[in-house]
Amino acid sequence: MVRAFVFNRQGELVGPVDAPRVELSEQEWKKRLSPEQFQILRSKGTERPFCGSLLDNKQTGVYSCAGCGLPLFSSDSKFHSGTGWPSFFRPIASDNVAMVADGGHGMQRVEILCARCDGHLGHVFDDGPRPTGLRFCLNSESLAFTPSDRVAELADPVAELIAPSAAPATSGQAAGTATAVLAGGCFWCTEAAFEQLAGVLDVQSGYAGGAAETATYREVCEGETGHAEVIRVTYDPQQISYDRLLDVFFDAHDPTQRNRQGNDIGTQYRSAIFYASNEERETAEAKIKRLNESRAFKRPIVTTLEPLTAFYPAEPYHQDYARLNPDQPYIQHHALPRACQIRAKYADLVEPSRP
Ligand SMILES: [Zn+2]
Repeated sequence: MVRAFVFNRQGELVGPVDAPRVELSEQEWKKRLSPEQFQILRSKGTERPFCGSLLDNKQTGVYSCAGCGLPLFSSDSKFHSGTGWPSFFRPIASDNVAMVADGGHGMQRVEILCARCDGHLGHVFDDGPRPTGLRFCLNSESLAFTPSDRVAELADPVAELIAPSAAPATSGQAAGTATAVLAGGCFWCTEAAFEQLAGVLDVQSGYAGGAAETATYREVCEGETGHAEVIRVTYDPQQISYDRLLDVFFDAHDPTQRNRQGNDIGTQYRSAIFYASNEERETAEAKIKRLNESRAFKRPIVTTLEPLTAFYPAEPYHQDYARLNPDQPYIQHHALPRACQIRAKYADLVEPSRP
């Protein structure tokens, strides 16, 4: 038996619960896994950097063991490490990932294994971001991804040993992190400005303000959906405050243009703060008042404050767009200069190691 956390049929992570270990013969593993998965999970292989299918996955959801299905990592703790392998700063539950010293290849490293089937996942290093300072470096092939609206499909029979009412809700964000949803015109540009900040763990492009059915780039571009192009910033409030994020936000776009940013015209490019709590709304109101009073901009700020009802992630090809397409003319002329201005003005907030 192994102590682990598992999902129940309500899509909640529950535990710890005693789960039977998964022990199969080499032949059985070969039948169950693809050759690539077998090479990583059972033969302790390493996939080539920048080649894994989950490296740039920015959808919200859960990463499970590709061998036995045990939940291992949540998108809430995924961050861009630049190493070429999917990276997380903490497992979904510490019981679910086993760590053992690995002296192979002439290096002293710590190997990480699935606690239930002993599948090889990757290694853990101590150069990760806050709050843990750890970098769990994974092979995409060792993982299977389930989007957050489908985690109930990961339901494990042993979860029924625990009453649902006693279950801690973990479908929200990881402890110690917070999120901010901001609209400042084209999300390619605002994403690039925020990704370089220390304490910012992840930035995802998406849509907010409209209905689920119309949350697609093609429909949002038509301008009739009520959606704005937004970014969702996941950050460590110990390292950077919501108030400071708003300072950067107001410099990352022109908050005095109504329903447009330069040549991008339409309500989908409006300047807006989607607040998730009264505290966020009050902080935003106070910030706008202060900026207007100090005449920080030549014209009054027209940024709207809107309650956040839902955030819809944009299509995968929009994520990390500026970083992946630095030669694209729009990025060259709009996103990169703006990101550089932010770097210069907020040098104290920029993470030195992030290019
Ligand atoms: Zn496993």
